[in-house]
Amino acid sequence: MTQAKQQAAILIVDDVPGNIRTLVEILHADYEIYMATNGQDAIDIALSNKLDLILLDVIMPEMDGYEVCKKLKDNPTTCEVPIIFVSGQNDEIHEAQGLELGAVDYISKPAKPAILKARVKNHIETKQRKDMLASLSIIDSLTGVANRRHFDNFLDQEWRRGIRGSLGMAIIMLDIDHFKKYNDHFGHGEGDECLKKVANALEGSMQRSTDLLARYGGEEFVAVLPQVELDGAEIVAKKMCDAIADLKIDHPTSDTANHVTISLGCASIFPTRGSSSTPLLDAADQMLYNAKNSGRNQFKSIVL
Ligand code: GH3
Ligand code: MG
Ligand code: MG
Repeated sequence: MTQAKQQAAILIVDDVPGNIRTLVEILHADYEIYMATNGQDAIDIALSNKLDLILLDVIMPEMDGYEVCKKLKDNPTTCEVPIIFVSGQNDEIHEAQGLELGAVDYISKPAKPAILKARVKNHIETKQRKDMLASLSIIDSLTGVANRRHFDNFLDQEWRRGIRGSLGMAIIMLDIDHFKKYNDHFGHGEGDECLKKVANALEGSMQRSTDLLARYGGEEFVAVLPQVELDGAEIVAKKMCDAIADLKIDHPTSDTANHVTISLGCASIFPTRGSSSTPLLDAADQMLYNAKNSGRNQFKSIVL
């Protein structure tokens, strides 16, 4: 199936529908367009859609553009969306006020189509570059799964959510069996390819959107399963084992099997106020160690 590259999304806000139409005519061929004729609708749309840019009128009844801008900049969900004021107030004071509120640009009405198009394009490219950098900073570049830093933040956030909601949580630590021998036999490049395939298969074994798989270290991965107790974690661990076996990656020098296998440690807990997630991680690590000592290619688990 072919999929068109997703268009950047722009919200156009103006209390005069004719002004919106003018901007839509200039931009609709290149962008996905949202429209609002008042400040509150603009904020609601910005909160519930992924926007790349907002074109914002200044003078509007009830809530003016400055107030809308301030509210969007104060909200962590919307503060990163660039705002361009499009205004009939073409004096220095108004333009400065808009820019001081955090807008990236100020365009005078009536907008000149070619200039508007070029400025919109520039600001959207900057926004997309920033988004790309933000996503790269949480992703492990080899395998494409979350990196250790993102795992730490995610676990911390889910731990607090678990305390507030009296919800269980499970962790699975896992490690490729005899991976040093795999590298020694096939070379580091093939080892990297194996890591990618393993990461991909592990991710495919986790079906809830609330779960997170991260690369914990070299050939070690960790899965955080919020709102899950041990029985749920064991189902995922079994699926992971099977998914790696199904890859049938030859490993002639393994002492465990003739294909690549993994060992896993599962631990679950109900987070309580004042506690930390360290014992949960330590317990999952200890179970992984037990799985290794019991012959590898298996999981061990514990309830805390
Ligand atoms: P065990 O079954 O006890 O886990 O044995 P092992 O050989 O997998 O464990 P050990 O910790 O002795 O060795 C891990 C090896 O993983 C060492 C290194 O060659 C390999 N490794 C770690 N990170 C990477 C990586 O990013 N790429 C590749 N290709 N290999 C890696
Ligand atoms: Mg290993
Ligand atoms: Mg290891």
